[in-house]
Amino acid sequence: PQGDIHADIVVLGAGPGGYTAAFRAADLGKKVVMIERYPTLGGVCLNVGCIPSKALLHVAKVITEAEETGRQGIVFGKPAIELNKLRAWKESVVAKLTKGLTGLAKQRKVRVVQGTGKFVSPNMIQVETPDGLRTVSFEHCIIAAGSSVASIPGFPYDDPRLMDSTGALKLEDIPKRMLIIGGGIIGLEMATVYDALGCKISVVELMDQLIPGADADLVKPLHRRIQKRYEAIYLRTKVTGIERREDGLRVTFESASDTVPAPEPQLYDRILMAVGRRPNGRDSGVENIGVNVDERGYIPVNKQLRTNVPHIFAIGDICGEPMLAHKASHEGKLAAEIIAGGEHATEAAFDARAIPSVAYTDPEIAWMGLTETEADKQGIEYERAVFPWAASGRAIAMARDEGLTKLLLDKKSRRILGAGIVGVNAGELIAETVLGLEMGADMEDIGLTIHPHPTLSETVFFATEIAEGSITDLY
Ligand code: FAD
Repeated sequence: PQGDIHADIVVLGAGPGGYTAAFRAADLGKKVVMIERYPTLGGVCLNVGCIPSKALLHVAKVITEAEETGRQGIVFGKPAIELNKLRAWKESVVAKLTKGLTGLAKQRKVRVVQGTGKFVSPNMIQVETPDGLRTVSFEHCIIAAGSSVASIPGFPYDDPRLMDSTGALKLEDIPKRMLIIGGGIIGLEMATVYDALGCKISVVELMDQLIPGADADLVKPLHRRIQKRYEAIYLRTKVTGIERREDGLRVTFESASDTVPAPEPQLYDRILMAVGRRPNGRDSGVENIGVNVDERGYIPVNKQLRTNVPHIFAIGDICGEPMLAHKASHEGKLAAEIIAGGEHATEAAFDARAIPSVAYTDPEIAWMGLTETEADKQGIEYERAVFPWAASGRAIAMARDEGLTKLLLDKKSRRILGAGIVGVNAGELIAETVLGLEMGADMEDIGLTIHPHPTLSETVFFATEIAEGSITDLY
């Protein structure tokens, strides 16, 4: 049966996965409908994720840099923070991009239906729009419904002083004292912002290091720096209770190890809960039409991003980790091409060898491909080439030489297996190593490539010289 609207391809969700898929499919000549419950396109990433956080992190960087130029003989006064203006600026950044997407959708004749979609049959979605129920029928569907904030049950979430990342990005005021629960990327990025704006930060993390997915040597320079700036960092520690009080939120802790004692209960003005995200696999009735959803809420897919129902695909946060925008958009493009390509696309598959991860903290931490932790776990032999930024002219000239650049190389072929960088702009610098890995580059390919001097990008090249043994006397 046909719905009120019929499409070759329906995309459910307009985040980086969804809009990339929709635009690509339209470019390939398909009639595309994109369903999105919120009035603006862009999903979590543009509205309450990647983009607003980076706008605030930019400002944080300017403030902390100005604080630190005293050592170079330039002393700035205390910054006057006009919170309304800062908020408006952040919102204008988001608006520019989300409006841009609306324009791109129009240009490509991608029809956007605003409302919450629910599957009512394997070829039909019902949408609750502001003007009533509409049905959209389709030949193929790409589910790109993303993820939501995860939380620990039992805490007083109706108290506005207990925020999630969306609340923290609203920047309603600058609290005096804030606890961040969860020392992962999102928690530490928000900590970076609030610290620069003058809030006293404490971080509590259950695992034995901050940013648990990254190698310990990459996290160390960040930990050292923020330990000096923040009030406290509690590792291997669990929050067991949050009690509302008039003068703040009282938090009780429990140690998760025999060696680290639990801190005494503390009172905070504000708490940011940043313990991860959960996939939205169970929110659109997809399991009722026979699509498998696993126990965590992910929709499993094969290498072609097909679910167990062959004409229904899933991409982005909803189909698995890592929950990153560039993974979602890469999958979106591929799913659209597989559907639009018909029999020509039978061989196409998701075959990214490395998906880079970046924490936009200060310093930034970026890694891709194999990590040392994974290599050790899987018993993979590798050669490690590390260049400390203390020997980089550019890093010294920037007064930020705490970083390091690490390459993991295959012992025999000396091809790149993985890389990790910590330091200013690590997120930009990691791209070269991703290209290297995708192209099957070995140490010589990078070592024989002329890098501009003096740049931080040279540290990748210097790491190959370390591997070669031509730099040996750094320390
Ligand atoms: P989403 O962006 O989650 O989009 C899904 C869309 O589907 C949403 O707009 C939702 O409203 C809609 N939807 C869901 N169900 C329905 C329904 N039933 N009907 C209609 N519409 C529906 N990633 C990075 O790579 N870099 C970063 O710097 C980064 N920073 C982040 C910072 C924060 C604070 C957060 C929270 C996340 C960050 N991420 C970052 C993660 C990134 O935002 C996600 O990986 C990315 O948005 C996933 O894209 P997606 O298309 O899968 O889904």
